[in-house]
Order: sequence, then C-alpha cells, then structure tokens
Amino acid sequence: MYSFGRNGSEGTADMRNLLGGKGANLAEMSNLGLPVPPGLTITTEVCTYYYANGQSYPAELEAQVSEALAKVETEMGMRFGDAENPLLVSVRSGARASMPGMMDTVLNLGLSPVTVEGLARRSGDERFAYDSYRRFIQMYSDVVLGVDHSFFEDRLEARKEERGYHLDTEMTADDWKSLIDDYKAIVERELGRPFPDDPREQLWGAISAVFGSWMNQRAKTYRRLHNIPAEWGTAVNVQAMVFGNMGDDCATGVAFTRNPSTGVKEFYGEFLVNAQGEDVVAGIRTPQHLTVAGKQANGSSDPSMEEEMPEVFAELVTVKDRLEQHYRDMQDIEFTVQQGRLYMLQTRNGKRTAAAALKIAVDMAEEGLITHEQAVARIEAQALDQLLHPTLDPKAPKQVIAKGLPASPGAASGVVVFTADEAEKRAQGGEDVILVRIETSPEDIHGMHAARGILTARGGMTSHAAVVARGMGRACVSGAGTVRIDYAKGQFTVGDVTVKAGETITIDGGKGEVMLGRVPTIKPDLSGDFGTLMAWADEIRTLKVRTNAETPLDAETARTFGAEGIGLCRTEHMFFSDDRIIAVRQMILSDDADGRRAALAKLLPMQRGDFVSLFRIMAGLPVTVRLLDPPLHEFLPHSEKEIAEVAAASGMDAQKLAARASALHESNPMLGHRGCRLGISYPEIYEMQARAILEAAVEVSAELGQTVTPEIMIPLVATRRELEILRKLVDDTAAKVFAEKGAKVEYLVGTMIELPRAALQAAKIAEVGEFFSFGTNDLTQTTFGISRDDSGAFLDSYREAGIFDQDPFVSLDQDGVGELVKIAAERGRSTRPDIKLGICGEHGGDPASIDFCQRAGLDYVSCSPYRVPIARLAAAQAAL
Ligand code: ADP
Ligand code: MG
Ligand code: MG
Repeated sequence: MYSFGRNGSEGTADMRNLLGGKGANLAEMSNLGLPVPPGLTITTEVCTYYYANGQSYPAELEAQVSEALAKVETEMGMRFGDAENPLLVSVRSGARASMPGMMDTVLNLGLSPVTVEGLARRSGDERFAYDSYRRFIQMYSDVVLGVDHSFFEDRLEARKEERGYHLDTEMTADDWKSLIDDYKAIVERELGRPFPDDPREQLWGAISAVFGSWMNQRAKTYRRLHNIPAEWGTAVNVQAMVFGNMGDDCATGVAFTRNPSTGVKEFYGEFLVNAQGEDVVAGIRTPQHLTVAGKQANGSSDPSMEEEMPEVFAELVTVKDRLEQHYRDMQDIEFTVQQGRLYMLQTRNGKRTAAAALKIAVDMAEEGLITHEQAVARIEAQALDQLLHPTLDPKAPKQVIAKGLPASPGAASGVVVFTADEAEKRAQGGEDVILVRIETSPEDIHGMHAARGILTARGGMTSHAAVVARGMGRACVSGAGTVRIDYAKGQFTVGDVTVKAGETITIDGGKGEVMLGRVPTIKPDLSGDFGTLMAWADEIRTLKVRTNAETPLDAETARTFGAEGIGLCRTEHMFFSDDRIIAVRQMILSDDADGRRAALAKLLPMQRGDFVSLFRIMAGLPVTVRLLDPPLHEFLPHSEKEIAEVAAASGMDAQKLAARASALHESNPMLGHRGCRLGISYPEIYEMQARAILEAAVEVSAELGQTVTPEIMIPLVATRRELEILRKLVDDTAAKVFAEKGAKVEYLVGTMIELPRAALQAAKIAEVGEFFSFGTNDLTQTTFGISRDDSGAFLDSYREAGIFDQDPFVSLDQDGVGELVKIAAERGRSTRPDIKLGICGEHGGDPASIDFCQRAGLDYVSCSPYRVPIARLAAAQAAL
C-alpha cells in the first residue's frame, strides 16, 4: 500500500512495476508539488497474490487500506461514508504499461441515499450531487456489477425526450432524483438484489472489479497484441474525487504537451466545461479546444480554455512545461478544474504516431532535453514501418465526400465494413478493409487491428478510436459528423451519397478526409527528421545492414533506404520469369550433362545480365549471391502444355520428358535434392552461375573503375567436403574466366549455415569458406524440425499453451537456434579469425533478433528492402 498526497508520497515515478504507471506518476506529481488529489495505490503484487490465491486478498490488506484512507480523509477534511461531509473517491486501474480503455475506472464512489444529501448540502448544489450519484450508479453497475450501460443510457434518453430536453445539462435535480430511482430499479430487476448503499462494500466491490478486469477478454487481447505478460498484473488507485461537474467554473480535460499526430511543439488538447471524467473522450458532447491556435486550426467557433478560463489555463501551461521538462518526454495529461482550481489526475508518456515520435525525438535532442542516443533509443524501430509506406498522391483526382478529424495519419483504402468481427474476417481473407463505426469501444480492438483504417462519425482527437489507431499505426479519421451510419441497412450516407458495406473508400488520416474509391499513392519522404535520426543511428551502430534483393527495383529501393550491400541474392527467383523457365526446365529434364549444358548456355547471358545490373546499382558495395538452392521439384512442368513447350525448345520427346519429370518428383523436397546437393550432382549448373557472376563482376569493375567483390554463397552445406568440392569448382571457373577476359576481380566463397550439422562443424567448414551467412529460416526449420509452410496449423495452440512466446519464424529463437548461431560463430572464428558473419533469414529485419546478432558478434544483418531502415535503427539500439 503506497499513499500519495500533499504531505509526501511513498512512491516515485520509477516504481511503475509495483505501482503501475498511473500510481507511480501520481506519486511523482505530488512529489513535484503539483496539485494532485490525495489517494493510495494497492500494488501489482496484490494483483498477483489475488490470482495466485483463488481471488482473495492478503489478510492485512483491509486494515492497510483503512489506514491509508484515513490519511486521505485528514488531508481532505472529509470522511468516507460520512452523512455530513462525505469523501468520495475514484477507483482507478493502472497497469505497468498503459492500456488505454482496457481497465475500467469508477468515479464518485461512496455515494448513497445518505451521503448524497450531505454532498448536496456541503456543495450547496443539489443538482450536482444527484448528477454525480446517477453517474456513480451507472458506472458502478456497468463496471462492477456487470449491468449493461445501455439500460441506463436508454432510460436517460427516454427521460430527456419526455421532458423535451436536448442536453444532459437541462436535467434538474428532481429529474436526476427520479432517474436514480429508475436506475436502482433496473439494477434490482437485472440482478435480483439491490444496488449496494454501503460505501465500504462499494469500495471493495470496485477494487475487486479492477483486479478482475485484468483477466477480461479486452485486456487479454490488448496484452496479446502488445506482448504484455499476464504476470505483470495491475495496481489499483483509490483517489479523492475532485469535481469538474460542479458548474461553469468547473471543467475536465485531456492534453498532450506536443501534438501526438505530427509531433509539432504545440500544446494540444480538449476540454469540457461542467463535465466529468470520460465525458471528453466518450464523444457525448463535442469538446472545446484548449488553445486559441487549436481552435482556429480546426475551424471551431466554441471558445477555447485559453479564452474561457485564462487563469487556470495559464497554470495548466506552467504545469505541462514542468512535466515535460521533468519527464523529458511528451506527456499525455488528464486534469480537472473544480471551482476555478486546477487538479492533475494523470500524466504519462504520450502515445504518438511514428511521424510524431520522430519529430519529438529529433526536436527534443536539438532542444538539448535529451541526447542523440536517447533520441535513437526512443523510437520503436518497428514503428518506422508506418513512415516508409506510400501516402496519397496529391495530384491524383479524388472525390472527398466527408471531413472529420485527422486522428491518425496515413492513407488507407479498403472495403467498408461496419463491425469488428466482419473486419477481422475479411482481412483474414486477404482484403483491405476500412472499419466504419459511429464510435469505437474496447470491444472493437481486434477489428481495428485487422483494418487498414478506421472511420468514426463521433468522437474527438482523444476518442478511443483516435488513441488506439495511433497506437496501432492505423490510419484514422474520427468525428466525421456528416457521416450517417445505418448498421441495420449496412450502409452509410453523406448527403445524397450512399456507401454500402463492401464498397471501397479511401481515408486520409493526416487530413481527416474520406474519399470514394481507391486513390493512388506516392512514395514517402525520407529526408528531414527521418534523415536526421537515421544519421544519428548510423553513427551509433556497429552492425552493417544489407538487403535481400534480386531485382533491380528491390536493390534500388534498398539503397535509397540505406542498404550497405546485398546479403542475399536468391538466383532461383531469376529463373521463374516466362522467358527463362522453359530453358530451366530443359536443363532439369535433360538426361545428360550435354543436354544440360545446352540449356545452361541459353541461361548464361541472362544470368550475367542480372548480375551486371545488380553490381551497377550496388556500385562496389558487397553483393552475396547464393547459387541455386530450391529443389528441382519446384521447377518441374505441371501441365501437358508446359511439357510440350519444353519439348519444342529442346527437341526432346514429350513422353520421355513427362517420365523424367515424374521421376524427379520428391515427397519431401524441403529435405530433398536441393542446395549444394544440386551442385554436387549437376556441377554444370553452379559452373554456369559462377561464370555469370564473375564475368559480370569483371565487366562492371571495368565500367565503374572500381572493383566489385562478389561473395559466392553455397547453400545447404552440411559437411566440409561438400564445400571443398564446390569451392574448387568456383575457383577453377574463376581461373578460366580471368584468363579469357584478361582481367581479375577479388571474390569470396562462403556458405550458408542453415543445418545444425553445419553449425556444429563450423570450425572445419570455415577452413574452406571465407564467410558464413546464417540462413535462419531453414536453420529454424531444421533445428525445430518444423516446416515453416505447415506451422500455421499449430502455431496458435503453441502460443496459447505458452510453448512459443513468439512465432520462431518471425523472431529468432535465441535459446535454441541462437545457441547454434553462437556455436557456429565461435567455431568458425577458431579456424578463420577474420571470417565474415551475417544473417540473411527473415530475422535479419526483426529488432529483437538484430539485438541478438549484435550480442553474438555478427558483422551484418540482411533483410528485405522495406525493413532496411528498421534494421539500421534496431542495430543502433542494439549497440547502445
Ligand atoms: P483511464 O486509465 O481509462 O485513463 P482513469 O483512471 O484515468 O482511466 O480515469 C478516467 C478519468 O476519470 C480521468 O481522466 C479523470 O477525468 C476521471 N477521474 C479519475 N479519478 C478522478 C478523481 N479522483 N477526481 C476526478 N476525476 C477523476
Ligand atoms: Mg478508461
Ligand atoms: Mg486516464
């Protein structure tokens, strides 16, 4: 139990594991002397205890809570449950990592038929007291007792209609009183027992509900999506209430110290006068802007807080500056104004888009608030992905049908769906979807995740949809008020335009625009803050970053993203194009070496041409070319037509060809006639490839006036002898080429380490090979004995059962596969100290795997072009 308040707090900001983020920061803010209503935090350890002990509490907890509550009573000069001067509290969840909207908060706890009268007398405002009471009954019933909130909302709407009211603010004290009777009747009807009037019972009910919500479906989904372990648990904060709903000198609001969408250094937020808690984010009333600038930028006519409450606003500005200086990061703050006095209710590092994260990190480093290293450490490498993808082409024609708030940037096109389940279903079927909702709630998380973008009709920049979309990197337009959604008909209308489910729209979350159809996109801008931060990252990192590429387009893209060479050029990809596949098939299906040579002679100039263009693009940077790897099986002709084509090209008999093709059929091709085994049985294939590479290298070296040093890589080696035979083949071919051309280039011959035997025998293999590239896709398959293509069927149950934390094909299994990598690195170096070591599996672009590569002492990682910037940043972070 940790108290916080004016007379000192027991906690600090760095105790978030124990106190949760909210509790730790409430303690820190009161330590800073900021106006925080006093309270207490029940630690995450209690949550762990609760679940380990059949949902019960440690024996001493109740007494400790009473004691801490007594301190709060003293500071507030009020008593919990008192008939005259009742203290009300909020009960707030707070996990270590912020989980917006996941856990539920109960406000105004402690109200009963007795205390509500005390509150009315003390405040001199009966309407306020009963308004608070009805809010409490609704929230408590929903969160703690599990009575659906729509019962209450419908009742309130009906009552307003009867009275001819439009706004909640028109409800009088008597209206609320009679509504409260109705609410209590609803609870009794639904539960068969009355609403609890005893404040202590309410308090423990709420505390248990917070702990209980840690295991609700929404929370579990969020944890799964964000890799938050269930063991962390949540803390519970019990805090004295302050009231933003006591009149027009009261308000509640949320703000960011900088713009969370763009990162611009401007105070950014929303507030509502005479309102409480989540009113701002719930989208019930349209919130007002905090600043005049914000109001103008959004074309709003409602007065800003700056105009309406200038003194409190000025105080808020001082507080936010203080908080940003103190935490040295952009803060997301929640505050309430009670009768002209400011209270801080929360601060945390604000969620932001990738673009905002970049700008804030670069700006703060330039302001001297943080170092370059801190700026680099702060950007989630994975999130850069959002910035590397196209945005709407400003020149493309577009038909804007509606405008909303630019809640989360990025352009997205997709078919319209109206439910989260439908979004998930269609996305799984490979479609791009845009989820369109009146507003979103935590139940929609899975659909938001599956969608390319989210459009809501209601809700501000801090609405659930906006916050979650920014966190997930989904495009979002919120509060598009002219969009009328009809779930029943499965359509929305804007004016006289109707859009039905399944039709395509485009949203621009950076501008807040909604467009009909699919609007074309353009490439992202990689200069500016992006360039600055990447330059800092490049200064820090020691791992080189290469790319996996075989086409000129991929190679060029990768270079613009900063690739320092090619780590894997898969030559088989070059064989599949229409003009080559026939020659490839002819080669495979020939029954003697002469037939194969004839076919290979056709392929040689094409292969050479491929390498010439790659070497030109890479302009002297290293290029690793892997000789043919896949089982021949994969190239076999399937149809009679395909066989006839090969027969025509080779002059071979179609029937013989068909017989040969079926003889080459393999039952387990992944472990079949592939990799260096092809080179051993059909040396002329590798000979042709080595020749193509070396001839191209000689040609481009002359052209560039600079040596191109190809790295020739032999795949699927398990023994020293395999590599020895094939290395000799390459060396002999090189000698011939150099003699013919009268010119030489340097070249390396090395191997992929993708079989456990190769890793174990690395010392011997390194005597022959000059580099190792860890082919961790195959190494993962062969170490686990799991086929990547077939793992989908059981991967989910493996994750659920806690056997895999992560898909081992996405993030390297550091314990097992990683151990083989370390063994191979160590043994390889024992016989060849200067051996070059790299990784070229899918893992080369995964930040956690890159961190491992750094620690294992590799020289470079190689990944797909779009992941190159992510890898550069992750490599820098790994070096910090
Ligand atoms: P969340 O984790 O969803 O942000 P909070 O615990 O922060 O939930 O509560 C939501 C809102 O309820 C706060 O932003 C604040 O407006 C209001 N609130 C919470 N505690 C208090 C309190 N003690 N006094 C007044 N308002 C409160
Ligand atoms: Mg909430
Ligand atoms: Mg909050």
